[in-house]
Amino acid sequence: MAEKFTKVACPTCGKEVEWRPENAFRPFCGERCKLIDLGAWANENYKVPAEQGTFEDDVERP
Ligand SMILES: [Zn+2]
Repeated sequence: MAEKFTKVACPTCGKEVEWRPENAFRPFCGERCKLIDLGAWANENYKVPAEQGTFEDDVERP
């Protein structure tokens, strides 16, 4: 017996994923793609404040 689930495309790799209630990583195909997506967001958020302050450059001394 085959149940029908809605299929979505994984935002990270584009692979087709069945939207199952037991799929904790939906709409991602798996934990890895979810982490990659979260990591991409974290990196972007990190860059914005880092470019505003040049404190780390001033600290560098001979
Ligand atoms: Zn994926």
